[in-house]
Amino acid sequence: MTSAPDSDFYSLELLLDPAGRQLLQRVREFMEKEIEPVINRYWTREEFPHELIPAIGQLGIVGLAYQGYGCAGGGNLLDGMVAMELARVDSSMATFFGVHSGLAMGSIYLCGSEEQKQRWLPAMARMEKIGAFGLTEPDVGSGASRGLTTTARRDGDEWVLDGQKKWIGNATFADYVVIWARDVADNRVKGFVVEPPTPGFSTTKMRDKIALRVVQNAYITLDGARVPEANRLQNANSFRDTAAVLRLTRAGVAWMAVGCARGAYEHALAYAKERQQFGRPIAGFQLVQDQLVRMLANVTSSACLCVRLAQLQEAGIAADQHSALAKAFCTVRMRETVGLARELLGGNGILLEYHVGRFVADAEAIYSYEGTREMNTLIVGRAITGTGAFV
Ligand SMILES: Cc1cc2nc3c(=O)[nH]c(=O)nc-3n(C[C@H](O)[C@H](O)[C@H](O)COP(=O)(O)OP(=O)(O)OC[C@H]3O[C@@H](n4cnc5c(N)ncnc54)[C@H](O)[C@@H]3O)c2cc1C
Repeated sequence: MTSAPDSDFYSLELLLDPAGRQLLQRVREFMEKEIEPVINRYWTREEFPHELIPAIGQLGIVGLAYQGYGCAGGGNLLDGMVAMELARVDSSMATFFGVHSGLAMGSIYLCGSEEQKQRWLPAMARMEKIGAFGLTEPDVGSGASRGLTTTARRDGDEWVLDGQKKWIGNATFADYVVIWARDVADNRVKGFVVEPPTPGFSTTKMRDKIALRVVQNAYITLDGARVPEANRLQNANSFRDTAAVLRLTRAGVAWMAVGCARGAYEHALAYAKERQQFGRPIAGFQLVQDQLVRMLANVTSSACLCVRLAQLQEAGIAADQHSALAKAFCTVRMRETVGLARELLGGNGILLEYHVGRFVADAEAIYSYEGTREMNTLIVGRAITGTGAFV
């Protein structure tokens, strides 16, 4: 049995079967050996380590939440713990993976026809093809459920897409870009898989982000881009179907928040044991121990919440509000935790070489994407009061 690191304070990994624990250990080793030593360089240059994609594909972690179609399978708990493990070392790589395996593959898995799933998912599961997910627009973020302006117009056996998207992760190099657009005929939101190069479809890389700099986010312009009817996700008939994808992936983001917090905590603990002031390690000071224990409590309580959410998912009873509460809670706790870690490192906390500074910056993006704290709070608020307060 693989022993869990001390930061798994309540031994949640023991909930996995031996094969799951082995997989987690493989992911941990890969992230620590292959990603951690190089990631700051990519982060600084806003570049993505494309050459590492095949190795990630071989870890056997793509599509852990799905059954069949060449996907890894294994269940929601393992899927979540893997997301945590990725983010424990680097949130950009976890986000890249979440966009591909969660948002893009999840859209096809939940909203595609049998033929579409057979057509696209196996190569995505092998990471020979990479996915992106285009929902957000320059003027429409939180209000995507009602306000999408990108349009889809049916023209014979094709659809014509017009509009703009913003923030779309992986879009500069993705093979399959899921575009959510409003059908002008019935005003409903539908999903389309665009396969670049496609005339009328173009991307521009977003530059100068202060968070998740390794993730290649893009503006997308759709100017009369044509996709065949065969590329319309056959079971995406309204925003409710888009929301089903987000329900799944928001749980993954909650896990990532735990991983980001956990990584920062582990760096802070190691630093506290090494760093000497007043003639002894700072770990021996009461105020420093208070910071460390607050961090550990945040990580542990958030992880426990995510474990229960995974159990609800596996039982088929997880609702929007369950994912929303976890995403909101865990990202708030993450933000506090990375801040405490930075504080504990003193000046070194803002130097990239000590890693924690990257965690602080990246946490800001995780806090806001896949529904801000406010939006996820409103989803829970509606569930508990029976009254929507979005507008
Ligand atoms: C790094 C990164 C990666 C991303 N990747 C993707 C991607 O791959 N695909 C994709 O489609 N999108 C992606 N996004 C977009 C992301 O999902 C949006 O940023 C998010 O939904 C928030 O939208 P917004 O940024 O437009 O903020 P806005 O919606 O403009 O919100 C601004 C502020 O107003 C608040 N607010 C809005 N409405 C209300 C209300 N009714 N009540 C109270 N407060 C409210 C919000 O909480 C927020 O604090 C990404 C974003 C980032 C930062």
